[in-house]
Amino acid sequence: MSDHREQLAEHLKFFGELGVAGFRKDAVWSARADGGADLKVSLDAPAPHIPGADRQAGPTPDTVAQLAAIREDIGDCVRCKLCLLGRKQIVFGVGNPNADLMFVGEAPGRDEDIQGIPFVGRAGQKLTQIIEAIGLTRGDVYIANVIKCRPPENRNPEPDEVEQCEPFLFRQIDTIKPKVIVALGTFAAKSLLKSTDSISRLRGRVYDYRGAKLVPTFHPAFLLRNPACRREVWEDMKKVRALLNGEDVA
Ligand code: URA
Repeated sequence: MSDHREQLAEHLKFFGELGVAGFRKDAVWSARADGGADLKVSLDAPAPHIPGADRQAGPTPDTVAQLAAIREDIGDCVRCKLCLLGRKQIVFGVGNPNADLMFVGEAPGRDEDIQGIPFVGRAGQKLTQIIEAIGLTRGDVYIANVIKCRPPENRNPEPDEVEQCEPFLFRQIDTIKPKVIVALGTFAAKSLLKSTDSISRLRGRVYDYRGAKLVPTFHPAFLLRNPACRREVWEDMKKVRALLNGEDVA
């Protein structure tokens, strides 16, 4: 099978996993607010228009410079003990500096620590599929983590580590000014929303957050272990798509 066919097969498999029932040529699906199990996706029609998705063509030099300044301020960070606990490098963030949509995860894992890029391992592949399921690419969005260094054995980040690191995430958010932020998993959702509730309690609602709409959803790694939760993730991603289209979503 050619690469293209393999990719197509993989996409179809994932859409199937999400509950997408079929495909057709017109682009009506992009106009549907309800989406749902009978969502019809066109593979032939032009990609649905998501306002701002085309902004990747010209990131403003200002935003790029501001992000570079934040990275410079982090430097070769020794603000918390993670610098002594085996991290290989700081994983700052990746994507469109002018993105309308930003994903925030927990912390780099092994693959991310090696490559210096967030979400490049198995969970990252799942995240890429989720992004593509709403008609976007990784290049359209911005991806970062609450914590920029890998915790040993992928343990949960500790409060002092969050305290030192999250101001940099806040600066990234305030620079990029996304319309929508997706908090991936319990840790990111709890950290951003300063809540003690689990992701199961937090998801299903849209929150106002730093000038953006925040949508919490399950972490892609959790989804890999619990594929039954794909329906909820799809519900959340339909909300994201509607918000990007300027629709009111509760
Ligand atoms: N999990 C995360 O939360 N972030 C990554 O970058 C990779 C896996």
